[in-house]
Amino acid sequence: MPSVEEVASKFDTILVLDFGSQYSHLITRRLREFNVYAEMLPCTQKIAELKFKPTGVILSGGPYSVYADDAPHVDHDVFKLGVPIMGICYGMQELAWINGKGVARGDKREYGPATLQIKDANCPLFEGMTNSTVWMSHGDKLHDLPKGYEIVAVSDNSPYCAIYNKTDNIYGIQFHPEVTHSVEGKTLLRNFAINICHAKNDWSMENFVDTEIQRVRALVGPTAEVIGAVSGGVDSTVAAKIMKEAIGDRFHAIYVDNGVMRLNETEQVKKTLDEGLGINLVVVDASERFLGKLKGVTDPEKKRKIIGNEFIHVFEEEAAKIQPKDGSEIEFLLQGTLYPDVIESISFKGPSQTIKTHHNVGGLLDNMKLKLIEPLRELFKDEVRHLGELLGVPEDLVWRHPFPGPGLAIRVLGEVTAAQVKIAREADAIFIQEIKDAGLYRQISQAFAALLPVKSVGVMGDQRTYEQVIALRAIETVDFMTADWFVFDAAFLKRVASRIVNEVDGVARVTYDITSKPPATVEWE
Ligand code: GLN
Repeated sequence: MPSVEEVASKFDTILVLDFGSQYSHLITRRLREFNVYAEMLPCTQKIAELKFKPTGVILSGGPYSVYADDAPHVDHDVFKLGVPIMGICYGMQELAWINGKGVARGDKREYGPATLQIKDANCPLFEGMTNSTVWMSHGDKLHDLPKGYEIVAVSDNSPYCAIYNKTDNIYGIQFHPEVTHSVEGKTLLRNFAINICHAKNDWSMENFVDTEIQRVRALVGPTAEVIGAVSGGVDSTVAAKIMKEAIGDRFHAIYVDNGVMRLNETEQVKKTLDEGLGINLVVVDASERFLGKLKGVTDPEKKRKIIGNEFIHVFEEEAAKIQPKDGSEIEFLLQGTLYPDVIESISFKGPSQTIKTHHNVGGLLDNMKLKLIEPLRELFKDEVRHLGELLGVPEDLVWRHPFPGPGLAIRVLGEVTAAQVKIAREADAIFIQEIKDAGLYRQISQAFAALLPVKSVGVMGDQRTYEQVIALRAIETVDFMTADWFVFDAAFLKRVASRIVNEVDGVARVTYDITSKPPATVEWE
């Protein structure tokens, strides 16, 4: 069985030493975009303990100040590797600190765009680049040129915007090429990885599938068992499929029907995961239990808490019923966490990148003494979708819109009862079906129906009705941080409204939500 390091040594690997920047993962992602493999390890990694030889090293940015007593520092053996090195922001400050200590707090913070002014067009880092916009995010500054370096670019506020040690092939840049605000940042990273480090760009998502499966297999070892919750969404399904490929039936997926899932969700999950993907699946119908706890509760935060806590209880009970084969034990908990879900980046004081406690499952980890395994934590949503396609996850599921953890409980405003959930569920199913039939599902990032706790007068068959209101919501977004409402044509909205009022008992009126985020959020509660 290959070790994690053997997997990394199969490709030319750029080693990213992470000093805790919120952008660190973006560096590895950018490199993957032009097919260069990158491995991210904590900045405290001992170079002698590396089991592969990197083709180049990038020192990331970080929230610390290099001159502070508790600042993290790189193992100086990195300079003995004899490969090109590039420091980004904190990474550059670290290079300067090591070579003369010329770093101090700047007069003012520099956060936002700056114009790169290239001073040495022959520096290989700038090949094909112009004096374009770069993104700055720092408070500390170099005030001396480190020994052996020259200045190769400046900006209005940073006289040491880029520095270069030609003899040792080491580069330092004050800006962040990994964020898209640095207009030519990708060219710079490409220059470093391909032209300077000579990394072969032969990595692809197909390779990720193989390496990740092998990595997970090595991590779990030959006997341990793994459990994980699946929801029917793309992230948990793809994560579960990776586990299935890595360790077969030693992975146990648990699906909890909490009574606030979408229409036919449970049947759908059984069909795709159990029958389709061959995943070892336990289905628990806990709907009455959840709805019982939600009785009389109208506060959205309380609903979320109740569902989260109850989920942990049900999951623990079900996990206790799973009897691993002789001698083996459930040691790991699988989570389909994606990079954007990782709120805090890896602390240099923290554990390794594949196993890390996560706020959502903290209770499970502590109570059950489990270690966390997160095969997708390096990836962005579009990458996970691509991965899902490669793993044979059905297209419908791969492209499914996100669904909130508390489910329909936060789309039924006010008290959540089985009858209310039924209304929201049926209206939602009609809306989504119409969107799919109109060929709009992939253009829209998220769409759903919410049931409002107000009654409104209507007229049907000459009878006065007095029923509830459905609010439709459909948004377009790139990152879910900001979102715009989707512009449907009038005929589409008319058709959906008419179907919902006619086919769903208890609805007298349909509205369409035309608020963007901000100021509104995507969900109503
Ligand atoms: N903390 C350092 C500074 O403020 C580095 C910041 C960074 O790497 N983004 O300058």
